[in-house]
Amino acid sequence: MKHTAEILSVGTEILLGNIVNTDAADIAAALSELGIDTYYHTVVGDNPARLRAAVEIARSRADILITSGGLGPTTDDLTKQTLAAAFGKKLVFHPEEAEKIRARFRDMGREMTENNLRQAELPEGCTVFENSCGTAPGCAFEAEGVRVLMLPGPPVELRAMLRLSAVPYLRALSEERLYSHNIMIFGMGESAVEARLRELMDSLENPTLAPYAKTGEVRLRVTAKAGSTAEAEALMAPVLEKVRAAVGDVIYGLDVESLEAACFPLLKARGLTLCSAESCTGGLIAKRMTDIPGASAVFKGGVVSYWSEVKAGVLGVPQALLDEYGAVSEPVARAMAEGARKLLGTDFALSTTGVAGPDRDERGNEVGTVYVALATPTGTLCRRTSCGKERERVRTVAAHHAFDMLLRWLRDNE
Ligand code: ATP
Ligand code: MG
Repeated sequence: MKHTAEILSVGTEILLGNIVNTDAADIAAALSELGIDTYYHTVVGDNPARLRAAVEIARSRADILITSGGLGPTTDDLTKQTLAAAFGKKLVFHPEEAEKIRARFRDMGREMTENNLRQAELPEGCTVFENSCGTAPGCAFEAEGVRVLMLPGPPVELRAMLRLSAVPYLRALSEERLYSHNIMIFGMGESAVEARLRELMDSLENPTLAPYAKTGEVRLRVTAKAGSTAEAEALMAPVLEKVRAAVGDVIYGLDVESLEAACFPLLKARGLTLCSAESCTGGLIAKRMTDIPGASAVFKGGVVSYWSEVKAGVLGVPQALLDEYGAVSEPVARAMAEGARKLLGTDFALSTTGVAGPDRDERGNEVGTVYVALATPTGTLCRRTSCGKERERVRTVAAHHAFDMLLRWLRDNE
């Protein structure tokens, strides 16, 4: 059976803008992870009549109601009374919950006022959700075809109870869960990817297909709701196939973190080594390689050759090339990669030289112009790229290009 949930956040503070409704976000994220549709979030103040009215609306359009807040001991905490009344349930005193509340106050060395025992009053026949971070227990009950879950307001308590009690309770309601694959794309912008896949995305219900943009990259997520891995894979396979047919050339991997993470196993499996010679990326290629656990098996090191003196003196870029073409040029990018490859004794070397901005260089190269070169055992390749206008982005995208060149070489030369 398909379930629909509604979140009811109870608290005048939320209505007044005194606090941000993080509880609703946490609950919503958990529901989406479970594959339970949520169509409405309602916020209502600490007012029993309006809460009751909100419950009546919610139950008319959802079969799972999840409340947050108002479970505490004070007179403005009315959630349990109101929800129990709305579903014709009595509140009954749970002695074992009362004992836990007393014990908690003893542990904290604090005097317990009698009103705290109101927290041990729970709807008859409910499942009690223990509060591992506070005193007010939560609970769940079923009545008239609706499941009602009540969770405490304080975010720390809510998160713990969600994870330990509410999510397992909800998972048990449904055999189905979500399975997904991430299709990683570099070399085509988000809008171009969307344009090619719009029709497919609109036609899909299960699985769904959605794009997420990262800096210079696009992640396409395919998500299937299914009762088992095998069933999910069978649902997703034709969609993966269609996406490959539509944008195949720019897909660099399935369920990989990054371009460098796609390169790493290919280098490792073939015992190949890499180094870098970086100007405008300032060590980003080396940083991203060494972020990978076990990178030392393939990455020997790098030179950050920011000044022309370093390009010439350390990497051996001929001064004549620097004089004739300038530092930001194809001949210099090639010479940097070849110099580094020789100096560090690796199979491959990646180099970058470009204008990260904010200003164009003295030879008039536009911001974002980057030459990326790859020296290989069989020759050197170079790409001239436009990596955007903003400094951080230029560096990130330039490093993407470097890894993309390496990955393509490795795949083309198996
Ligand atoms: P307590 O036992 O602390 O009274 P409670 O379950 O009765 O908890 P409330 O009294 O409604 O919950 O809220 C307690 C505190 O929790 C609020 O002051 C606020 O800081 C936080 N809180 C309540 N609701 C939310 C929410 N929806 N999102 C984020 N924080 C919340
Ligand atoms: Mg309270």
